[in-house]
Amino acid sequence: MRPVLRDDHEMFRDQVRRFIDREIVPNHAQWEHDGVVPKSLWQRAGREGLLCVTAPEAFGGGGGDYGHSAVLIEELARANATAVGFTTHSEIVSNYVVAYGTDEQKTRWLPPMINGDMIAVIAMTEPGMGSDLRAVRTTIRRDGDEYVINGSKTFITNGINSGMAVVVGKTDAAARELTLVCVEDGTPGFAKGKKLEKIGLKGQDTSELFFDNVRVPVTNRLGEEDKGFRYLSHQLAWERLIIGIRAAASIEALLEETIDYTRDRKVFGQTVFDYQNTRFTLAQAKAEATMLRAFVDECLGEVLRGELSSEKAAMAKLLGSEMQNRLLDEFLQLHGGYGFMSEYKIARAWVDARVARIYGGTSEIMKEIIARSL
Ligand SMILES: Cc1cc2nc3c(=O)[nH]c(=O)nc-3n(C[C@H](O)[C@H](O)[C@H](O)COP(=O)(O)OP(=O)(O)OC[C@H]3O[C@@H](n4cnc5c(N)ncnc54)[C@H](O)[C@@H]3O)c2cc1C
Repeated sequence: MRPVLRDDHEMFRDQVRRFIDREIVPNHAQWEHDGVVPKSLWQRAGREGLLCVTAPEAFGGGGGDYGHSAVLIEELARANATAVGFTTHSEIVSNYVVAYGTDEQKTRWLPPMINGDMIAVIAMTEPGMGSDLRAVRTTIRRDGDEYVINGSKTFITNGINSGMAVVVGKTDAAARELTLVCVEDGTPGFAKGKKLEKIGLKGQDTSELFFDNVRVPVTNRLGEEDKGFRYLSHQLAWERLIIGIRAAASIEALLEETIDYTRDRKVFGQTVFDYQNTRFTLAQAKAEATMLRAFVDECLGEVLRGELSSEKAAMAKLLGSEMQNRLLDEFLQLHGGYGFMSEYKIARAWVDARVARIYGGTSEIMKEIIARSL
């Protein structure tokens, strides 16, 4: 029904739904308890062609497009499967390797990323910096045919499970320019810190990474030296749209959930749905969700055609995540005390949504980006 998606995207949706129902839904609560998803899930997803769906077929990838990516992101969001950190690996790191990697690098890293044997992460944020990427203090100093990496990273999604990290640093501590280097698990001096305790996304592992005189060959560099900021900026529009896509799908799923709940629940002899306040709240939410869907799909069409601007992607992230937080709070209120109970989907979704206004660039940074285009 959505003009931006084709039949093959919708067929892929059926396959994704089956996988989520079979492999993720029954185990999600346990992973939230453990704070980490087993690597075996990644391998099963890899076997079914659900990782790195846009990676080229020549390297074992699905050869799909952003429509297939969107379907995966939407279905994970609808199922509230927030423990599963496939998106960073498949939609962000994989894109860097495809866009800036040499053939040798693609041959080395893409097949294990696609089959789920190697989980790849992006390590930008440091204890002293997040929004201001150019303030990175990690150094990637050249020494003959090697780079020597020193620094520490934090808040890294899938850090504990990581098999390879794309590290953002500077060849010269005083410089403004950034360089990207890949560091594989097991490289001497590369250590993983503790699993960070979070208020939400409890099943997704988020950790610190440390680099103490880590030596990697210069052939581990992605793209050219000092071009890292440009590379990161190129991919950011899509990365921000991901958060808008997730917000739209989450709002739609939880609106349905809340309609069902309020139709069932009786208070003072009538259903919660029968109160005008409830119907007006849900009607307003439906109108806003429909507007968000139209805008996000327009952006998806633009990203498919290679036309999405950074301002428009920032709008999708800003309004999507802010709307998601506001509406999920209203949906939770309509659930009464049950909305505060973790076994209810709305309770977990409400907590998990909070970070959408922070990661991938905060709402304030999105406004800065939009303001620059005024
Ligand atoms: C669950 C989770 C997963 C993450 N995953 C990753 C990951 O995989 N890899 C990775 O590298 N990072 C990751 N991050 C880091 C994330 O991208 C940063 O937290 C985010 O960019 C904000 O940076 P910060 O936390 O340092 O906040 P700060 O930059 O310190 O911001 C603090 C406050 O200042 C405001 N502010 C900053 N600059 C301005 C400005 N110019 N104008 C107005 N206000 C401003 C911010 O909006 C915010 O309100 C993750 C974070 C979380 C919470």
